[in-house]
Amino acid sequence: MPDSTLRLQFSNMKVMKFGGTSVGSAQRMKNMVALVAAEGNVMVVLSAMSGTTNSLIGISQSIKDDELANAKKQIDDLELKYKDTARELLSDSSLLKEANGKLDEIFSALRSYVEKPFGVKEEKEVVAFGEKLSTMLVSLYMKEKNLDSVLLDATEFMRLTPDGEPDQNFIKQNIKEVLQKDPGHKIYLTQGFICKNSDGEIDNLQRGGSDYTASLLGAAIPAEEIQIWTDIDGMHNNDPRFVEGTKPVSELHFEEAAELAYFGAKILHPTCVLPAKHANIPVRLLNTMEPEAVGTRIYNAEPTRKIKAVAAKDNITAIKIKSSHMLLAYGFLRKVFEIFEKYHTPIDMITTSEVGVSVTIDNERNLKQIVAELSELGNVTVDREMVIVCVVGDLEWQNRGFEAEVVNALKEIPVRMISYGGSNYNISLLIRKDDKIKALKLLSSHLF
Ligand code: ADP
Ligand code: ASP
Ligand code: MG
Repeated sequence: MPDSTLRLQFSNMKVMKFGGTSVGSAQRMKNMVALVAAEGNVMVVLSAMSGTTNSLIGISQSIKDDELANAKKQIDDLELKYKDTARELLSDSSLLKEANGKLDEIFSALRSYVEKPFGVKEEKEVVAFGEKLSTMLVSLYMKEKNLDSVLLDATEFMRLTPDGEPDQNFIKQNIKEVLQKDPGHKIYLTQGFICKNSDGEIDNLQRGGSDYTASLLGAAIPAEEIQIWTDIDGMHNNDPRFVEGTKPVSELHFEEAAELAYFGAKILHPTCVLPAKHANIPVRLLNTMEPEAVGTRIYNAEPTRKIKAVAAKDNITAIKIKSSHMLLAYGFLRKVFEIFEKYHTPIDMITTSEVGVSVTIDNERNLKQIVAELSELGNVTVDREMVIVCVVGDLEWQNRGFEAEVVNALKEIPVRMISYGGSNYNISLLIRKDDKIKALKLLSSHLF
């Protein structure tokens, strides 16, 4: 096939990612395959069945705690669940036999971990079984339905750099090679979440990382659209787990979606919007339980002069450094930031005054060392168990009144930090964990 034809074929491709609930039972797998079959020319990215990644983490924990009988029991239970799912999914006896053979192989591989030394590397290998299981079953069901599909091993093209970030050049080059080796199929199916690290070992893109796989692949191909199929009809204007009566937002700008994902909207992996944004590929959030619902379209949307949604990010630590030397001193902030850089700790929010600076972090791993070094620059105070509430929308500074509305909505709640003007899209406020649900509810009732 000439190269130009190949390019055309793959650029018309859509990426369809199905999350844990969307492949959570045999019936749901059947439903998602029907959605894929109606589309054609797609790259399908699957999560593990809901609950499986948690089970695999539980099994790993039992092995680490030397509770081996417990680990074996959990593996037996998981195997039973998969054998039941296979039986319900596949009517063709030879395909069911093939599935059971593969399940025997996978579960005997899983059992072998109970007997050997177990560390971080082994845990990552164990956690990777979830996506292998779901794609194996769905691929056999697609065969049963006579669909033209090919199962691709994500670890052949999903790779991390030595810094642990997705290696976008490697991914781009390798997905193209893999597709060009076997072009012309209607459906390419692969695992979300799993990848290899720069040493060639099995790794993953962190919890919820299948969204990230979909967006990285969409950008690499490059696809026409990235669809994230889940259990809700799009990005809601507030967190539906804590606030009643939330509504889907039909359109979001890439930046708005990126802020919401990063600041706690669980429907999207924190960084999964970025590859789509850089490649300018629209992302749609859709509901497998209600496929006709419009969902949310994320693209270079026009400004709307509206506040669109609220999200909250937990487990935040605020650090304040007060120094009399900060007044009129240049270089002070650099010294502060260098300490966080040295300990590979990203800063989420920052506010300054003449005598000090407050920053927030969500990773306390090196807090002790960071505080010790910051103490050489000034007086350090730490507030733990805080939450960032992030309000997102068309918050360009000339649009009057939005920041006042947000602050006014939260007037009953003590606010530790406010950040506004860093982008045109958000206002972030730092509050106590115990005030989170009240704050989310107040924002919904005042803003929407
Ligand atoms: P999947 O398994 O398909 O990846 P997730 O559980 O990761 O699904 O994400 C979907 C869930 O995200 C929803 O069921 C909902 O509870 C939660 N969620 C949190 N914030 C939002 C929001 N702003 N809009 C929609 N869903 C949200
Ligand atoms: N299965 C993985 C998890 O549960 C990845 C995903 O679902 O996106 O985190
Ligand atoms: Mg998810």
